Amino acid sequence: MVEQVTSKPKYIFCTGGVVSSVGKGLTVAAIGRILKARGLKVAIQKLDPYLNVDPGTMSPYQHGEVFVTSDGAETDLDLGHYERFVDENVSRMSNITAGQVYLTVIEKERKGDYLGGTIQVVPHITNEIKRCIKLVGRQTDADVVIVEVGGTAGDIESLPFLEALRQLRTELQRHDALYVHVTFLPHIGATDELKTKPTQHSVRELRGIGIQPNVIIARTDHPVNKDIISKIALFCDVDENAVIPLQTADNIYAVPLMIEETGLGEYILKRLRLEADAPDLSEWREIVRKRRSATDRLRIAIVGKYVELHDAYMSVKEAIVHAGIQQNQDVEIRWIHSGELEKGKRLDELDELDGIIVGSGFGYRGIEGKIVAAKYARENKAPYLGLCLGMQVMCIEYARNVLGLDDANSSEFDLSTPHPVIDLMLEQRAITDMGGTMRLGEYPCQLLPNSLAARAYGSGEILERHRHRFEFNNDYRDVFAANGVSFSGLSPDGILVEITELQDHPFMLGCQFHPEFLSRPNRPHPLFSALVEAAAEYRAEIGRFRQASAFGVDEN
Ligand code: GLN
Repeated sequence: MVEQVTSKPKYIFCTGGVVSSVGKGLTVAAIGRILKARGLKVAIQKLDPYLNVDPGTMSPYQHGEVFVTSDGAETDLDLGHYERFVDENVSRMSNITAGQVYLTVIEKERKGDYLGGTIQVVPHITNEIKRCIKLVGRQTDADVVIVEVGGTAGDIESLPFLEALRQLRTELQRHDALYVHVTFLPHIGATDELKTKPTQHSVRELRGIGIQPNVIIARTDHPVNKDIISKIALFCDVDENAVIPLQTADNIYAVPLMIEETGLGEYILKRLRLEADAPDLSEWREIVRKRRSATDRLRIAIVGKYVELHDAYMSVKEAIVHAGIQQNQDVEIRWIHSGELEKGKRLDELDELDGIIVGSGFGYRGIEGKIVAAKYARENKAPYLGLCLGMQVMCIEYARNVLGLDDANSSEFDLSTPHPVIDLMLEQRAITDMGGTMRLGEYPCQLLPNSLAARAYGSGEILERHRHRFEFNNDYRDVFAANGVSFSGLSPDGILVEITELQDHPFMLGCQFHPEFLSRPNRPHPLFSALVEAAAEYRAEIGRFRQASAFGVDEN
């Protein structure tokens, strides 16, 4: 950490304009990275204007992946980008929603904390928002806190958040806060022109609320020339060197390098009067170089019921990329809808794969298709990694097709199954509330020596993040163990099954937790590394076989 002469922390408030989904979260994470590269301690917080208390109760179609923090909060997927880019664990305080803010204020009102007062958006809601923002700085001891507001300027919901940021500008010293606005430049094909007007309008919208941005990051799919930059600077009243064009990157890990090249890092230091080391992005450059130069090509499928929306598997997707970077593999992800496998479609595609991942999920839809994928992996000795529900599915398949336990199932999907090999956790039985009541956050797990898991991790005890209500039913432990399944990861008291693996299989492993949340581009998760390694071996094996059969050569 760098010794600061001015006050701490400094704030970077980041808003969005024009349209959503331009990668504001990624941009913020990348800014975090270039500041961390200068030896600064960075914390990031996302303010989400929706009224859900957290995204845990939302469908992945609405929201994409729910990212779980080590302290057990169910949060926005942008927090995954923050952790992967900045490589600092975020916490419950790193994602605040309007629902949470209102709930706190209304609970206080019911307790009588404001007796006699009228509760209003300003100041009660805005005060609570400011309290949450300041708390992050105090809890993390960060030099810089980057605060991203979800949505775009002009949304009704985000008004209290923007008002809180405006108030902070007057409360903080001029050199302690920087306002960054991320916009989008649409391209008109007929005239081959980029248009700045929507950016101008969105800055006007912000000014109407009382916020004048200091930096404008203009996202675009096309090269931006000097005239466009000058125009934005002039109309939006921003320094020319604070108009940062940011073209869509070929891979997301290149974004910090692209931002660094624009000089934004130095501009931020100057504006915030921050002292810092020279930036060291060498490790990051190496990640990008390796990602671009990977030569081998593996095909790994993500089998799930939300595969139309890749964001629903954001961390899984990135964890595969990280393991690929480490092993010089340009992994192609095949998205296979479990509903299709269930209907007997796309089964032949399974033969083209080098590995299969069955990820997380809730509810019965698509389950039988996931069981088809697990059966295929087991019978063909194809590498398989089951994540949470993927472990449960692996056990159901084994029970039905190897142990002869007909109609085995999870009681989540069939309450009257004769063999609930996956069942509700005891402490979950009396719970009726759906929000924030699962087994959530980090738990320790002990590994069985010499198992696939222990070899992959290279250690005896691990900490992993959970998000589930159901677990392996211990009534069935003996019959599984006597018939080819190792329980290679258990809770330290031995009660909860955390990892299962097949003995007579090169790599078929399921974990009750979510290893994908811990993977980093420079530190791939051991289980994903092990999967990619097994997939490369399988490809080499099966490739010889595929070639041989293509030429009609008898293997013997
Ligand atoms: N639905 C399962 C459970 O609640 C699995 C959850 C998950 O995959 N995250 O236990």
